[in-house]
Amino acid sequence: MDRRTFLLAMGAVPFCVHAQPKNMKDIQTLQTNWKTFLPAGLAVPSPAEPLKLSKDEWKKRLPNDLAYKVLREEATERAGASPLNAEKRPGVFACAGCDLPLFTSEMKYESGTGWPSFFTTIPGVFETKKDYFLIYPRTEYHCKRCGGHHGHLFDDGPPPTNQRWCNNGAALKFIPKDGKA
Ligand SMILES: [Zn+2]
Repeated sequence: MDRRTFLLAMGAVPFCVHAQPKNMKDIQTLQTNWKTFLPAGLAVPSPAEPLKLSKDEWKKRLPNDLAYKVLREEATERAGASPLNAEKRPGVFACAGCDLPLFTSEMKYESGTGWPSFFTTIPGVFETKKDYFLIYPRTEYHCKRCGGHHGHLFDDGPPPTNQRWCNNGAALKFIPKDGKA
């Protein structure tokens, strides 16, 4: 039995593991096929349907205090705190504030920082601004639909995008493709 046959027999088919994108064409493919990572028949909102709520309404909608602090007050969770760091199943990462799909599982990579990290995003879902919470300016990004803060964008990610979307796990909810929680 050669290695390939062996792997097939074990059910560990090597080409089921998604390949790292090599060029910007691969990135575009990831960006255009994102809906294939949703469970069949699931309706999701679009960035063109803004969600605007009062502070009290947000507190009710986000009973998790950390999610509220991150999304509405630009707090940062402790590194390594989020169970989504280890999430590797196929699916979609959506905004915990408004359910807008933001990333697919294929856009995630292990950055070693302790925060869920992505090298690209579903197109048109974020807006950015510079912030000066630390001494040097950083690029803050937030959900286009609800304005919720998600994290910061750095330029030390893997090629070809070299982007690292460093996201608070508390600002995300994971929707597995197979629909199981
Ligand atoms: Zn949102």
